[in-house]
Amino acid sequence: MEQTSIKLSKYSVGTGDRFAHQARPQLQACIQALEAGIEVVPVWNKSNREHTIIGSEPLSVRQSADAAVKVLGWKRPYFCDADHITSQTVSRFLNACDFYTIDVADYIGLAVSAGDMDDFVKRRSGLLGRIQLEGTSESFEITPDNLRRTAQKYLTAVKKAGEVYRAIVNAKGKGKFIPEISMDETDTAQSPVELLIILAAIADEGVPVQTIAPKLSGRFNKGVDYVGNVAQFEREFALDVAAIAYATAHFGLPENLKLSVHSGSDKFSIYPAIHATMKRFDAGVHLKTAGTTWLEELLGLAESGGEGLKLAKEIYAEAFAHREELCAPYAAVIDINTAMLPSPGKVEGWTSEQYTSALRHVPGAVGYNSSLRQLLHVGFKVAAKMGNRYLDLLEANEDVIARNVLENLYDRHIAPVFLGRSEAPHSASEVVASMSKQ
Ligand SMILES: [Zn+2]
Repeated sequence: MEQTSIKLSKYSVGTGDRFAHQARPQLQACIQALEAGIEVVPVWNKSNREHTIIGSEPLSVRQSADAAVKVLGWKRPYFCDADHITSQTVSRFLNACDFYTIDVADYIGLAVSAGDMDDFVKRRSGLLGRIQLEGTSESFEITPDNLRRTAQKYLTAVKKAGEVYRAIVNAKGKGKFIPEISMDETDTAQSPVELLIILAAIADEGVPVQTIAPKLSGRFNKGVDYVGNVAQFEREFALDVAAIAYATAHFGLPENLKLSVHSGSDKFSIYPAIHATMKRFDAGVHLKTAGTTWLEELLGLAESGGEGLKLAKEIYAEAFAHREELCAPYAAVIDINTAMLPSPGKVEGWTSEQYTSALRHVPGAVGYNSSLRQLLHVGFKVAAKMGNRYLDLLEANEDVIARNVLENLYDRHIAPVFLGRSEAPHSASEVVASMSKQ
C-alpha cells in the first residue's frame, strides 16, 4: 500500500468544540504539552449530529482552528475531523476537513455474500493457526471457524468503509486526508482477535487507515469516568495495541496506525493504563475527547457570577424540563439517575461555588453530581437555541472560560495520558496570563 502523504503524529488529541469558541485555549493545551517535551497534535472533531443540533457548518470548525493556529503561532500539524460520517453525511465535510472518521457501526452484522466470504477466507488463510503477539505473553488460535465468524460479522462494514473512503479520495485525492474507521457505537466490544481480522479485511479493501476506534469493553459514558474492570481493560487494550503492531508489520497498513479512544473525556481511572501501555509498546494513541468543552464554558459562566451564573442556572432549568427529549439520542452512552437531579428551584438558589462543584468532575468531591453533569452535557441544544444570548456571554467571560478549558484539557487529559502525570508543571492561570499578552 502506498504511503499517505498526510500523516497523523504518534500522539494526538481530538478536541470537541460545540460552539467553535474555544479553539485557542484548546490549542494552548497542546502548546503546553510541547513545552513539557511532547508533541500532541490537535484534531478538532465535530460530528454531523452535533452540527445538526447546533445548526452549524463544518467550515466554522476549520475557521476557528485556523484562527487559533494563526494567533498562537502553532507550527506543527493540526486537523479537522469529520467525526462519525457515513456515506449519507460525508459530502458537507469534503471542503472543510482533512481527517475523516468513517463510521460503519450500523453495518456490523449485515449479510456477506458467499463470494466475498470465500475470497476473504482464501486470501487470509495464512492467518490460520497460532499467532503470538509481540510484547505479550498471550497467543491466539485462529481457526477456520472464527475467521469465518468474524468475517460474517464485520466484512460488510469494512467494505462500506472502503466505499466511503473511495468517495473521499475521489473528492480530495489520495493521501490528502487521514482516514479513521470507527466501530465503537455498537453493543458488543470487539476482541483483539476480531480487531486483527478486521484489520486484515481493511488492508484487503485498500484503506490506508491511520486510526481505528474499536468498541472497548466497559462503559464509556459521555463526560464521566470509565465504568468497568480496569485490569481487564488494560489487558485488552495492550492486546489491541499488539494486534495493531502485528497488522502494520504483516498487512501493509500504515506504520503509524494507532488506536483511537472515543468518548475519551474524563476517563480518569483508565488513563494510567493507557499511558503504561503506550510506554510498554512504544505506541501512539488518539484520544478523542468528546464535547465536554461546552461544560467548561458553563463552568466558566457559573464561576463568573452575575449574568453568567444566571444563564447557567437557566440552562439547567431548561435541560431539566426537557430531560427526556435531550437524553433520548444519547441513551446508550449516559447513565442518569433522575432521583439525583436537583430541582431547578433548588439550583436557582445556588452560589457559583455550589454550581461549579456540582458540575465539575472531580471524582469523590463532596458536591459533585454525575447525573447533573451528564444532563448538562447532552443539554447543549438548550444553549444553541439561545443563540447570541449565549455566545455574547461566552465572549464577555472569555478569560475565565479559557482557563477552565485549558486546565481541563491539559491537566486532566493530556498530562495523565501522554505525560503520565496528574499534576501540571505550571499552573494554567499563568499560561492564560501569557496568552493574553500575545
Ligand atoms: Zn465515537
